[in-house]
Amino acid sequence: MKFILLCLFLSSWSLASSNDLDHRPKSFKVSRGKAVFVDFTHATYHITYDISKRRTMVLADMKMNVVEAGRPVFDSVMKPYSVMLNGERVSVREVSTPSRETKVRVLNQDVPEGSHRLTIEIPLTNLVSFGGGGVKSAFWNSDINNRGFLERYLPANLEYDQVKMDFVVKFIGASTKQAIYTNGEVTEHPQNIFTISYPSHYTSSSIFFHTVPVNSVEEIRFNMKSIDGRDLPTVIYASSGSSEASNLEGAKRHAQSIVKELEGDYGPFPHPSITIYNAGTGGMEYCGATMSSLGALGHELFHSYFSRGVMPANGNAGWIDEALASWRDGGYQKSYSLQGTSRLSIWPYYNRFTDVNAYRFGERFMSYMDAKLESKGGLKPFMRHMVENKLFTPFFIEEFIAEMSEYYKESVKEDFYKYTFGNQNISNVSYVLKHQLPQGIEKAPQNEHPHHQKMSFEELENHL
Ligand SMILES: [Zn+2]
Repeated sequence: MKFILLCLFLSSWSLASSNDLDHRPKSFKVSRGKAVFVDFTHATYHITYDISKRRTMVLADMKMNVVEAGRPVFDSVMKPYSVMLNGERVSVREVSTPSRETKVRVLNQDVPEGSHRLTIEIPLTNLVSFGGGGVKSAFWNSDINNRGFLERYLPANLEYDQVKMDFVVKFIGASTKQAIYTNGEVTEHPQNIFTISYPSHYTSSSIFFHTVPVNSVEEIRFNMKSIDGRDLPTVIYASSGSSEASNLEGAKRHAQSIVKELEGDYGPFPHPSITIYNAGTGGMEYCGATMSSLGALGHELFHSYFSRGVMPANGNAGWIDEALASWRDGGYQKSYSLQGTSRLSIWPYYNRFTDVNAYRFGERFMSYMDAKLESKGGLKPFMRHMVENKLFTPFFIEEFIAEMSEYYKESVKEDFYKYTFGNQNISNVSYVLKHQLPQGIEKAPQNEHPHHQKMSFEELENHL
């Protein structure tokens, strides 16, 4: 049995690793060298909250597989204090990608192919608030903003990379007990130290992490029964004294009915537990977790299947899950015609965020495809097929199109090109994968879904 489990573990690891390599963005020129994307295989983050000094430090110890010699790329919004490569100090620059889509950090040193170790010391200041003898801190994401994932808080890779991550969290000088809400396995040690182990399929958009003094929240814990017989440990919590905290039982009933609906449509819940922070307006999704209002909870838990189950590998694939979630929110409508087009799939190559037209236009596109494929059962059976066959396998939009064409035994390429590639006449998919996409694409008008607002960084601070 142990042997079988080991084989399963090793095969899932090697699958993740080869999928990472297949989705590694292409290298680009920087002065005196070339920036190369690597495959991070393991990252241990030592996160130390010093309550008396009101300061938080992170030491990230990361193993990386360099498969193309050059200057490795990682990202962190905050500037690191120090970076060591295999134990030697190395300098790092923040550079823009070729079409100025985004910024990343690049080592100022050529690195040969092979396994290397990167040790990065960095301050943590975003969404950290000291007070009452403890600390409130969260790693909340935004997929509609550039550099909006784990790199807001910790050194991380771009979203294509699945990395085994572990946290070692210490609270020094706390006079209150800290609670940790997260979608990993938490072990509590003496002296206010916690270790958290996350699954190896997680990416920079997967982790939900929130720590608060225990008395600042109220929670309800129960086991949700999955369709496959599993008990899913579930926690729903809210700020003490808030209106959400007074309705945790209502939230529980709502969450149970949503999971029942989703399991009926797409099979067993894809994650081993459920964490819900009931707060704010709208919400944001993580693997088996969300910070969400009750109104957006269905949308966010849907994302545990599409977005944090069937995962996008980059910004240009991120619209699929928003379009599908909005299509569900709207009651899975059919539409026999579709006006206009969009550039949902065709932002410049290194783009990292989701075009907000994913909500309204994306929903209409899914209604249109559902009607078009009506005689073959519509879209829902294909969505279930994706959950059953492509779970935790980050994809490019071109792969999604190919998978859908294969499933229906009918090419859907023309529809995607017409409505999501700005009606560009791109007939060769390999062109899209291997070459720079047309430049000068303008930012789409802000057109967010009314039921699914995403909160700004400032609003998130209010909900720590
Ligand atoms: Zn969404």
